Amino acid sequence: MAIDNFIGGKSTPAASGKTDSVLDPATGQVIDQVASSDAVDVDAAVDAAKSAFGEWSAKTPRERSEALLALADLIEANVDELSELEMRNVGKPKAIIGVEMDLSIDNLRFFAGAARNLEGKAAGEYLADHTSYVRRDPLGVVAGIAPWNYPLNMSVWKFGPALATGNTVVLKPSELTPLSLVRFAQLASDILPPGVLNVVCGQGETAGDAIVRHPDIRLVSLTGDVNTGKLIARNASDTLKRVHLELGGKAPVIVFDDADIDAVVGALAEGAYYNSGQDCTAPCRVMAGGAAFERLVPQLTDAVGAIAMGDPFDENTAMGPVISADQQSRVSGMVDRARDAGAEVTTGGKVGGAAGFFYEPTVVVNPGQDSEIVQREVFGPVVSVQRFTDEAQAIAWANGVDYGLSASVWTSDVGRAMRMTKALEFGCVWVNQHIMITSEMPHGGFKQSGYGKDMSAYALEHYTELKHVMIKH
Ligand code: NAD
Repeated sequence: MAIDNFIGGKSTPAASGKTDSVLDPATGQVIDQVASSDAVDVDAAVDAAKSAFGEWSAKTPRERSEALLALADLIEANVDELSELEMRNVGKPKAIIGVEMDLSIDNLRFFAGAARNLEGKAAGEYLADHTSYVRRDPLGVVAGIAPWNYPLNMSVWKFGPALATGNTVVLKPSELTPLSLVRFAQLASDILPPGVLNVVCGQGETAGDAIVRHPDIRLVSLTGDVNTGKLIARNASDTLKRVHLELGGKAPVIVFDDADIDAVVGALAEGAYYNSGQDCTAPCRVMAGGAAFERLVPQLTDAVGAIAMGDPFDENTAMGPVISADQQSRVSGMVDRARDAGAEVTTGGKVGGAAGFFYEPTVVVNPGQDSEIVQREVFGPVVSVQRFTDEAQAIAWANGVDYGLSASVWTSDVGRAMRMTKALEFGCVWVNQHIMITSEMPHGGFKQSGYGKDMSAYALEHYTELKHVMIKH
């Protein structure tokens, strides 16, 4: 039986009856069929969300906060089922899936608290006999379009702040990974009134495009590829809806001679290959100064060569497959072209596994700054390592890409750390760390990594309108 959309509190097949196949990336086999929606289904979801808006937006912050806390508890209570869906549908190893489930739970608890802390600027008499104050009102119906790498967690980043601020929501998961979000929406119907949270499954060019062009949707928030972000920004302009874009990354890892190389290698072996490298903040673009480079390359090669790739359901597996055959050939093509251009592949560098979409954990050494593997997001288990000559070159190389999502600096010199964090053009800069995130802090890019922030109190700003009220007395 196919998996349906979830609209107005009910499981609803696509009006056209069409479905898309859902695969298990560890085997390449079809595991399900899911609704393949179009504009008719999006219209139905928007109508349901519009009908629910009056009741939901009238709830007190306390009531919305309590609902978000209940949603967090719901994930906790159903964590085994939701985890298994993501292990099967995304190929996430059992060893790592708990981390992002825990983040989703914590994100929702944070937004539950934030729902009760919204504020406008202080009221006052700015003209004689007139009092002004500022309200923050919800936008109305807002939409979230999610990628496949963290299907449930990226959706939480969209609907958490939206619901906290009194909006109703239409969500579209990636056509590749709809299972966990649809199941969550079904479970959440015991907590949320019908129409508050709707899920429409389908392809980007059909269901996604209908969302982006819908005149009654006030904001669309995408986490996805840079080119998808550019297209959505263009297509959303006809209705002048707000656009919030969390796009790709190409995170530099800048390692100075005085860094703790063991710590760098540990962070890379864990962070760069986590989720098969399919993470927009993955520490994938290492640059090291002379002596650091000499020590780092052999240690990193050994550590990465030891990463256990295999069946996501095996407790010993550290890394599963990439998401699709397309992604596997994209990764493979980029590594092959780097090698052809003269870079050295010190470990990995080929497709792995008898079936499914596996690619070996890979290290590519000495690619040129202008090469594709340095300039473009691989979104796979691949780290490049360059050697820089001085701090100025490290900064120029680090900033010398289109992306600006995240970066890390590794040094024991506090002054250098301070200079680097100021000079780097990225939405998040870590010092002696890479990849940790927390619900209280904003996550989002500079440059072509997009605009708008997820998580933190800053996220709530996108989902509200500021209204000036002036009273004559
Ligand atoms: P994608 O852009 O291919 O797809 C993302 C979503 O957009 C999917 O739901 C897709 O169906 C939809 N879509 C595609 N075309 C559309 C269109 N014309 N109109 C409306 N919707 C459309 O991205 P992906 O391959 O699923 O995800 C990987 C990308 O996401 C990577 O580039 C990664 O860096 C990025 N990402 C960014 C962050 C972040 O926080 N910045 C987090 C995770 C992933």
